[in-house]
Amino acid sequence: MITDCHIHISPMDMFKPAALELMRNKRENFAEIEQCCRSPKAFLRCMDRSGIDRALLINYVAPEVIGFTSGVNQWVVDYVKEDPKRLIPCGSLHPRHSANILADVEHLLRLKIRMVKIHPPHQLLFPNDYLKGVTELEIIYRAAEANGIPVMFHTGTSIFPGARNKFGDPMYLDDVAVDFPKLKILMAHGGRPLWMDTAFFLLRRHPNVYLDISGIPPKSLLQYFPRLEQIAHKTLFGTDWPGPGVPDIKQNLEDFRALALQPAIEEQILSRTALEI
Ligand SMILES: [Zn+2]
Repeated sequence: MITDCHIHISPMDMFKPAALELMRNKRENFAEIEQCCRSPKAFLRCMDRSGIDRALLINYVAPEVIGFTSGVNQWVVDYVKEDPKRLIPCGSLHPRHSANILADVEHLLRLKIRMVKIHPPHQLLFPNDYLKGVTELEIIYRAAEANGIPVMFHTGTSIFPGARNKFGDPMYLDDVAVDFPKLKILMAHGGRPLWMDTAFFLLRRHPNVYLDISGIPPKSLLQYFPRLEQIAHKTLFGTDWPGPGVPDIKQNLEDFRALALQPAIEEQILSRTALEI
Protein backbone atom coordinates (compact mmCIF):
# COMPACT_ATOMS: atom_id res chain seq x y z
CA MET A 1 0.00 0.00 0.00
CA ILE A 2 1.96 2.97 -1.28
CA THR A 3 0.77 6.37 -0.12
CA ASP A 4 1.81 9.64 -1.72
CA CYS A 5 1.20 11.92 1.25
CA HIS A 6 1.62 15.18 -0.68
CA ILE A 7 -0.21 15.76 -3.96
CA HIS A 8 -1.57 19.16 -4.98
CA ILE A 9 -4.91 18.42 -6.54
CA SER A 10 -6.71 21.72 -6.09
CA PRO A 11 -9.24 23.99 -7.80
CA MET A 12 -7.30 25.54 -10.67
CA ASP A 13 -9.78 28.36 -11.15
CA MET A 14 -8.84 29.80 -7.74
CA PHE A 15 -5.19 30.40 -8.69
CA LYS A 16 -4.02 33.99 -9.00
CA PRO A 17 -2.53 34.61 -12.47
CA ALA A 18 1.10 34.90 -11.26
CA ALA A 19 0.85 31.65 -9.26
CA LEU A 20 -0.74 29.83 -12.20
CA GLU A 21 2.00 31.11 -14.49
CA LEU A 22 4.64 29.51 -12.23
CA MET A 23 2.76 26.20 -12.31
CA ARG A 24 2.51 26.31 -16.09
CA ASN A 25 6.12 27.43 -16.59
CA LYS A 26 8.03 25.07 -18.90
CA ARG A 27 5.55 22.23 -18.47
CA GLU A 28 4.61 20.29 -21.54
CA ASN A 29 1.95 18.28 -19.74
CA PHE A 30 0.06 21.15 -18.14
CA ALA A 31 -3.15 20.08 -19.90
CA GLU A 32 -2.87 16.70 -18.15
CA ILE A 33 -2.47 18.42 -14.78
CA GLU A 34 -5.56 20.52 -15.44
CA GLN A 35 -7.42 17.40 -16.47
CA CYS A 36 -6.43 15.61 -13.22
CA CYS A 37 -7.62 18.57 -11.15
CA ARG A 38 -10.96 18.58 -12.98
CA SER A 39 -11.55 14.85 -13.05
CA PRO A 40 -10.88 12.40 -10.20
CA LYS A 41 -11.26 9.55 -12.71
CA ALA A 42 -8.37 10.97 -14.76
CA PHE A 43 -6.25 11.39 -11.64
CA LEU A 44 -6.98 7.83 -10.46
CA ARG A 45 -5.75 6.59 -13.84
CA CYS A 46 -2.61 8.69 -13.36
CA MET A 47 -2.13 7.08 -9.92
CA ASP A 48 -2.48 3.62 -11.49
CA ARG A 49 0.13 4.45 -14.13
CA SER A 50 2.45 5.79 -11.44
CA GLY A 51 2.14 2.90 -8.99
CA ILE A 52 0.47 4.93 -6.22
CA ASP A 53 -2.32 3.32 -4.17
CA ARG A 54 -3.44 6.27 -2.06
CA ALA A 55 -2.95 10.02 -2.30
CA LEU A 56 -3.40 12.79 0.21
CA LEU A 57 -4.80 15.76 -1.66
CA ILE A 58 -3.28 18.87 -0.13
CA ASN A 59 -5.46 21.97 -0.01
CA TYR A 60 -5.04 25.10 2.06
CA VAL A 61 -6.41 28.61 2.45
CA ALA A 62 -4.02 31.29 1.15
CA PRO A 63 -5.94 34.12 -0.50
CA GLU A 64 -3.09 36.67 -0.55
CA VAL A 65 -0.35 34.60 -2.20
CA ILE A 66 -2.01 31.78 -4.16
CA GLY A 67 -5.69 32.69 -4.24
CA PHE A 68 -7.17 29.71 -2.38
CA THR A 69 -10.21 30.51 -0.22
CA SER A 70 -11.86 28.28 2.38
CA GLY A 71 -13.96 26.99 -0.53
CA VAL A 72 -11.13 24.49 -1.11
CA ASN A 73 -12.46 22.37 1.78
CA GLN A 74 -15.82 21.61 0.22
CA TRP A 75 -14.12 21.28 -3.17
CA VAL A 76 -11.71 18.54 -2.06
CA VAL A 77 -14.38 16.69 -0.09
CA ASP A 78 -16.53 16.55 -3.23
CA TYR A 79 -13.54 15.46 -5.33
CA VAL A 80 -12.65 12.46 -3.14
CA LYS A 81 -16.19 11.02 -3.34
CA GLU A 82 -15.06 9.24 -6.51
CA ASP A 83 -12.93 6.85 -4.43
CA PRO A 84 -12.70 7.62 -0.69
CA LYS A 85 -10.37 4.67 -0.06
CA ARG A 86 -7.68 5.97 -2.41
CA LEU A 87 -8.22 9.73 -2.25
CA ILE A 88 -7.78 11.39 1.15
CA PRO A 89 -8.85 14.99 1.65
CA CYS A 90 -6.53 17.51 3.31
CA GLY A 91 -8.05 20.91 4.05
CA SER A 92 -7.25 24.02 5.98
CA LEU A 93 -8.31 27.19 7.73
CA HIS A 94 -6.65 30.58 7.92
CA PRO A 95 -6.63 32.55 11.19
CA ARG A 96 -7.00 35.92 9.44
CA HIS A 97 -9.72 34.68 7.09
CA SER A 98 -12.11 33.10 9.53
CA ALA A 99 -14.96 35.13 11.01
CA ASN A 100 -15.87 32.41 13.50
CA ILE A 101 -13.05 29.98 14.05
CA LEU A 102 -15.02 27.60 16.30
CA ALA A 103 -17.78 27.25 13.72
CA ASP A 104 -15.22 26.83 10.92
CA VAL A 105 -13.33 24.13 12.82
CA GLU A 106 -16.59 22.26 13.46
CA HIS A 107 -17.45 22.55 9.78
CA LEU A 108 -14.06 21.08 8.87
CA LEU A 109 -14.66 18.14 11.22
CA ARG A 110 -18.16 17.59 9.80
CA LEU A 111 -16.71 17.54 6.29
CA LYS A 112 -14.44 14.69 7.50
CA ILE A 113 -11.26 16.41 6.43
CA ARG A 114 -8.50 13.91 7.33
CA MET A 115 -5.55 16.26 7.57
CA VAL A 116 -5.04 20.01 8.04
CA LYS A 117 -2.40 21.91 6.07
CA ILE A 118 -0.71 25.04 7.38
CA HIS A 119 1.50 26.79 4.83
CA PRO A 120 3.41 29.52 6.71
CA PRO A 121 5.20 31.13 3.68
CA HIS A 122 1.89 31.32 1.76
CA GLN A 123 -0.39 32.07 4.72
CA LEU A 124 2.10 34.65 5.99
CA LEU A 125 2.23 33.48 9.59
CA PHE A 126 4.49 31.60 11.97
CA PRO A 127 3.26 28.22 13.22
CA ASN A 128 3.69 29.39 16.82
CA ASP A 129 1.85 32.72 16.40
CA TYR A 130 -0.69 31.51 18.99
CA LEU A 131 1.98 32.61 21.50
CA LYS A 132 1.51 36.15 20.18
CA GLY A 133 -2.26 36.30 20.40
CA VAL A 134 -3.37 34.44 17.27
CA THR A 135 -5.69 32.21 19.31
CA GLU A 136 -7.30 30.85 16.12
CA LEU A 137 -4.19 28.75 15.54
CA GLU A 138 -4.39 27.25 19.01
CA ILE A 139 -8.06 26.35 18.42
CA ILE A 140 -7.16 24.64 15.14
CA TYR A 141 -4.34 22.66 16.77
CA ARG A 142 -6.46 21.67 19.80
CA ALA A 143 -9.26 20.38 17.57
CA ALA A 144 -6.82 18.43 15.40
CA GLU A 145 -5.11 16.99 18.46
CA ALA A 146 -8.41 15.96 20.09
CA ASN A 147 -9.69 14.33 16.89
CA GLY A 148 -6.48 12.56 15.85
CA ILE A 149 -6.15 14.66 12.70
CA PRO A 150 -2.53 15.29 11.68
CA VAL A 151 -1.45 18.81 10.80
CA MET A 152 1.00 19.19 7.94
CA PHE A 153 3.24 22.26 7.89
CA HIS A 154 5.13 23.43 4.85
CA THR A 155 8.76 23.95 5.86
CA GLY A 156 11.53 25.23 3.63
CA THR A 157 11.47 27.78 0.87
CA SER A 158 8.81 28.66 -1.68
CA ILE A 159 9.37 30.46 -4.97
CA PHE A 160 5.75 31.49 -5.59
CA PRO A 161 5.42 35.25 -6.16
CA GLY A 162 4.59 36.90 -2.83
CA ALA A 163 5.72 33.97 -0.65
CA ARG A 164 7.72 35.07 2.41
CA ASN A 165 10.42 32.63 3.32
CA LYS A 166 11.21 33.67 6.86
CA PHE A 167 8.04 31.74 7.76
CA GLY A 168 9.51 28.54 6.31
CA ASP A 169 12.03 27.90 9.11
CA PRO A 170 10.97 24.66 10.83
CA MET A 171 12.29 25.79 14.22
CA TYR A 172 8.95 27.49 14.93
CA LEU A 173 7.44 23.99 15.10
CA ASP A 174 9.46 23.32 18.23
CA ASP A 175 6.93 25.35 20.25
CA VAL A 176 4.00 23.58 18.60
CA ALA A 177 5.46 20.14 19.35
CA VAL A 178 6.01 21.11 23.01
CA ASP A 179 2.63 22.79 23.53
CA PHE A 180 0.57 20.14 21.69
CA PRO A 181 2.32 16.86 22.57
CA LYS A 182 -0.42 14.62 21.15
CA LEU A 183 -0.71 16.53 17.88
CA LYS A 184 0.74 14.63 14.93
CA ILE A 185 2.93 17.15 13.14
CA LEU A 186 4.00 16.42 9.57
CA MET A 187 6.96 18.51 8.56
CA ALA A 188 6.67 18.76 4.78
CA HIS A 189 9.89 18.93 2.75
CA GLY A 190 12.20 18.69 5.79
CA GLY A 191 13.08 22.39 5.62
CA ARG A 192 14.67 22.01 2.21
CA PRO A 193 16.97 23.41 0.96
CA LEU A 194 18.09 25.58 3.90
CA TRP A 195 17.07 24.01 7.21
CA MET A 196 17.62 20.23 7.08
CA ASP A 197 19.71 20.23 10.28
CA THR A 198 16.89 21.94 12.15
CA ALA A 199 14.39 19.45 10.72
CA PHE A 200 16.51 16.47 11.74
CA PHE A 201 16.92 17.84 15.27
CA LEU A 202 13.13 18.28 15.64
CA LEU A 203 12.49 14.76 14.34
CA ARG A 204 14.85 13.31 16.90
CA ARG A 205 13.65 15.50 19.76
CA HIS A 206 9.87 15.20 19.39
CA PRO A 207 8.00 11.88 19.22
CA ASN A 208 5.07 13.70 17.55
CA VAL A 209 7.03 15.22 14.63
CA TYR A 210 7.13 13.33 11.32
CA LEU A 211 8.98 13.95 8.07
CA ASP A 212 7.30 14.17 4.67
CA ILE A 213 10.06 13.90 2.04
CA SER A 214 8.02 15.46 -0.76
CA GLY A 215 9.66 18.21 -2.76
CA ILE A 216 13.13 16.82 -2.06
CA PRO A 217 14.51 15.32 -5.29
CA PRO A 218 14.82 11.63 -4.30
CA LYS A 219 18.28 11.49 -5.83
CA SER A 220 19.39 14.09 -3.27
CA LEU A 221 17.49 12.64 -0.31
CA LEU A 222 20.50 10.99 1.34
CA GLN A 223 22.58 14.12 0.92
CA TYR A 224 19.83 16.11 2.62
CA PHE A 225 19.28 13.47 5.32
CA PRO A 226 22.37 11.24 5.57
CA ARG A 227 20.98 9.58 8.71
CA LEU A 228 17.61 8.82 7.11
CA GLU A 229 17.59 5.29 8.52
CA GLN A 230 17.45 6.66 12.07
CA ILE A 231 14.26 8.56 11.32
CA ALA A 232 12.68 6.10 8.84
CA HIS A 233 10.07 5.02 11.41
CA LYS A 234 8.62 8.55 11.24
CA THR A 235 9.21 9.33 7.58
CA LEU A 236 6.55 9.39 4.84
CA PHE A 237 6.90 9.24 1.08
CA GLY A 238 5.35 12.08 -0.91
CA THR A 239 6.05 13.83 -4.20
CA ASP A 240 4.54 17.37 -4.09
CA TRP A 241 3.37 16.83 -7.70
CA PRO A 242 2.56 18.97 -9.66
CA GLY A 243 4.49 21.59 -7.74
CA PRO A 244 7.32 23.45 -9.47
CA GLY A 245 10.33 21.13 -9.79
CA VAL A 246 8.31 17.89 -9.59
CA PRO A 247 7.70 16.76 -13.18
CA ASP A 248 6.39 13.24 -12.68
CA ILE A 249 5.07 11.01 -9.86
CA LYS A 250 6.23 7.74 -11.42
CA GLN A 251 9.76 9.02 -12.02
CA ASN A 252 9.90 10.30 -8.44
CA LEU A 253 8.91 6.87 -7.09
CA GLU A 254 11.46 5.13 -9.33
CA ASP A 255 14.21 7.51 -8.20
CA PHE A 256 13.30 6.82 -4.57
CA ARG A 257 13.46 3.06 -5.14
CA ALA A 258 16.80 3.46 -6.92
CA LEU A 259 18.33 4.67 -3.64
CA ALA A 260 18.43 0.96 -2.76
CA LEU A 261 17.60 1.47 0.91
CA GLN A 262 17.22 -1.67 3.01
CA PRO A 263 13.87 -3.25 2.03
CA ALA A 264 12.39 -2.75 5.51
CA ILE A 265 13.33 0.94 5.49
CA GLU A 266 11.90 1.42 2.00
CA GLU A 267 8.64 -0.25 2.99
CA GLN A 268 8.43 1.82 6.16
CA ILE A 269 8.72 5.08 4.22
CA LEU A 270 6.55 4.15 1.22
CA SER A 271 3.82 2.43 3.15
CA ARG A 272 3.90 1.86 6.87
CA THR A 273 4.43 5.27 8.43
CA ALA A 274 1.39 6.70 6.64
CA LEU A 275 -0.74 3.72 7.72
CA GLU A 276 0.44 4.09 11.32
CA ILE A 277 -0.45 7.77 11.42
ZN1 LIG B 1 3.27 21.16 -1.36
